[in-house]
Amino acid sequence: MTRPFNFSAGPAAMPLEVLQQAAAEMTNWNGSGVGVMEMSHRGKEFISIYEQAEADVRELLAVPANFKILFMQGGGLAENAIVPLNLSRGQSIDVVITGSWSEKSYLEAGKYCTAHVAASSADSHFTSLPAAEQWQLSHDAQYVHICTNETIHGVEFHTLPDLQALGSEAPLVIDFSSHVLSRTVDWSKVGLAFGGAQKNIGPAGVTLVIVREDLMGHALRSCPSAFDYQVVAAHGSMYNTPPTYSIYMAGLTFQWLKRQKQGELSGVAAMEHQNIAKAKLLYDFLDNASFYSNKVAHDCRSRMNVPFFLADESRNDAFLAGAKALGLLQLKGHKSVGGMRASLYNAMPIAGVQALVDYMQAFEKTQA
Ligand code: PMP
Repeated sequence: MTRPFNFSAGPAAMPLEVLQQAAAEMTNWNGSGVGVMEMSHRGKEFISIYEQAEADVRELLAVPANFKILFMQGGGLAENAIVPLNLSRGQSIDVVITGSWSEKSYLEAGKYCTAHVAASSADSHFTSLPAAEQWQLSHDAQYVHICTNETIHGVEFHTLPDLQALGSEAPLVIDFSSHVLSRTVDWSKVGLAFGGAQKNIGPAGVTLVIVREDLMGHALRSCPSAFDYQVVAAHGSMYNTPPTYSIYMAGLTFQWLKRQKQGELSGVAAMEHQNIAKAKLLYDFLDNASFYSNKVAHDCRSRMNVPFFLADESRNDAFLAGAKALGLLQLKGHKSVGGMRASLYNAMPIAGVQALVDYMQAFEKTQA
């Protein structure tokens, strides 16, 4: 059976090679006689898996030496609390609201500090980004939070704001859950980045946190020790038992990413090249179609999550049923936005996007 193309927003498709390797190693990892799930996290086998995964993600994302890489639990939503518990000092922070995920971050942070909305694109129904020059940044913010890819609204920052140039000394915190490893990161503009795994990294259950060292060590007294970045870092992400299997699967995905090549490019740069081509294929089609539309401003359209609408919404169920019959899965839009959404994460090949476009064209013809 050929594998269907899975457009799920997350948990999302994983590379077949990764799944096959995990299956082959399921009961006996590297001749150890046990599967990864059965290993002690303190044993030399798992430590080697962990250290390789950490080194690979550092290399893939070109993370500078003064940043710690942590593998935590709780997902993106727990980080909405963990970040203010660690960085806010109970004082004030700025949040730029560009969709559902940054709005959630803002509301959660308000439990631990004074959260201030520096800008919002709610007026455009989150189909654009507020211009950085117009953000109302506070002089005393402990950090500025943005979500660099809004998974539901399909809005992505293609350039990170330079807070210093905007007159703020605060570090930038980015929720990069839904586009991590799909593009390079300019760490000179970032203080902390966090992301759940279940889109571009691997199975749900592990959260990647990359934090500049000087931002650690200021957690509120009420911060659980297992969520105190300094404690987690001091224990090499093993203060408590880490999600070992998810880390192993993430490690296999990192190895797969390192093998990606596009001409002279490799790793994340090769992936980014491919992601640009995939997104262009779908957006060009949408922009030239009269039966389909995408409402997001061109300069901030997400490469990863493409919401789109049929001109005749009464055809939505028929569209989804026809897609499913062809092995094009999970295209239903998020309930808060409606319509359709195609998620084009790293594991989605360009052939999957082409199959979607071909189907959309054929479906439109049946409407005439
Ligand atoms: N942030 C973003 C951008 C997301 O897309 C998601 C999940 N879709 C989350 C946060 C929440 O992640 P989790 O469910 O792992 O807590």
